[in-house]
Amino acid sequence: MKENSLSRSAGLLPPCLTFGLVFSLMLSLSAMAQTAAAPAVTVIRAGTLIDGKSNTVRRDQVIVIRGNQIESVSDAAGAKIPDGAQVIDLSKSTVLPGLIDSHTHIFLQGEDPAKGGYDANILNQPLAMRAARATVSARRALEQGFTTLRDLETEGAGYGDVGIKEAIEQGYIPGPRMFVVTRAISTTGGYPLEGYAPELDMPKGAQIVDGPVEARKAAREQLDHGADWIKVYMTHRSWVGKNGELVSQPTLTVEELHAIVDEAHGWGKKVACHAYSGIGLHRALDGGCDSIEHGLDLDDAAIAQMLKQGTWYVPTLSVYYAAWAPADTEDGQRDRLRAAVHEPSFRKALKSGVKIVFGTDMGGIPWTEPIAQEFSRMVEFGMQPMDAIQSATSRAAVMLDMEGKIGVVAPGAYADIIAVNGDPLRDIKLLERVQFVMKDGQVFRAK
Ligand SMILES: [Zn+2]
Repeated sequence: MKENSLSRSAGLLPPCLTFGLVFSLMLSLSAMAQTAAAPAVTVIRAGTLIDGKSNTVRRDQVIVIRGNQIESVSDAAGAKIPDGAQVIDLSKSTVLPGLIDSHTHIFLQGEDPAKGGYDANILNQPLAMRAARATVSARRALEQGFTTLRDLETEGAGYGDVGIKEAIEQGYIPGPRMFVVTRAISTTGGYPLEGYAPELDMPKGAQIVDGPVEARKAAREQLDHGADWIKVYMTHRSWVGKNGELVSQPTLTVEELHAIVDEAHGWGKKVACHAYSGIGLHRALDGGCDSIEHGLDLDDAAIAQMLKQGTWYVPTLSVYYAAWAPADTEDGQRDRLRAAVHEPSFRKALKSGVKIVFGTDMGGIPWTEPIAQEFSRMVEFGMQPMDAIQSATSRAAVMLDMEGKIGVVAPGAYADIIAVNGDPLRDIKLLERVQFVMKDGQVFRAK
């Protein structure tokens, strides 16, 4: 990630200046290395530790943190506290790794349809306003113990997510580690703004492509401008079919998707696909998507293919239970059907061993609501609390190619650590009330 942003900014300078800058940076870095103090040492006393990976809970642990990394985790009895270490006493708490939400939108704010909804956000808000609000979303995530987000597109705010990510990395604003996708990709007729006079050239919430050549070009542009993942909308509108089934409109063809996946994989990046059901879901799998987002109606063939291909499943359950249209409207019936098919899809995927990862679609839900509400829904639909926690820690880390670095409290991982009062394995809702947040060795919240 760092390499990417460094090479991008260096690329803006003429070669001679780049060399000069790098050379003087090297000089100043070596001077700093001689004078800088050793990294600070912090020790956390953990009453109970859920490390994010192991199914076993450990009592009375001592976690030694040097700088931004965890150095050791050991039983308190016999543990040596390094000289001069700052000690944080969480001996009455349950300590966990920082949580990971793998499906968010920091540039959406749960827009109220009565106030113009999605369209007003794009048409009326200056970009600076949207960016300012995105910084608040990022801070709220961190406050709630989510130390990493995979943010799945800016909804018309271009490459704003890359800017927010850089501002967090450079310490200008507080926020989680960010994996960003920039603009996302769909086809003509496959994304809002919609319903305006055809003579008007309206902005769209995603980058619109038609044909494999345009699809590949869009992926190249987005990757060139800092996308960590590519996001593709494989279905768009949905409605209740003649036989009461959920129908969703497919968007990209397999050929179009394949061009994107082929390009992204060549860059060592992955592709997240929004897909509800039917034709679009099967094209998503045939085209090689790495993660299926939402997956409202997973038929048996889709589940078998996900298992075979190792596809990740980010169900985002809660958002489909919020803000249903009135029951006597077409939209209202569709909203109820979506939720009705989602639960059995989730249960089937869970039972078959599909790799399920925690994601919320925050932004679709206002950021003022608890992000961790998704845990309750997962547990209600049959997931064990420890499994739900791992879906937001070590399993998400594997999907993000960050195994051992995030989503685990273990030597060599970044010091992203949270704590709650009580036992979240008995009451998963406790994760909605995180008391302590450390990211990268820095305490962000302690209460
Ligand atoms: Zn989303």
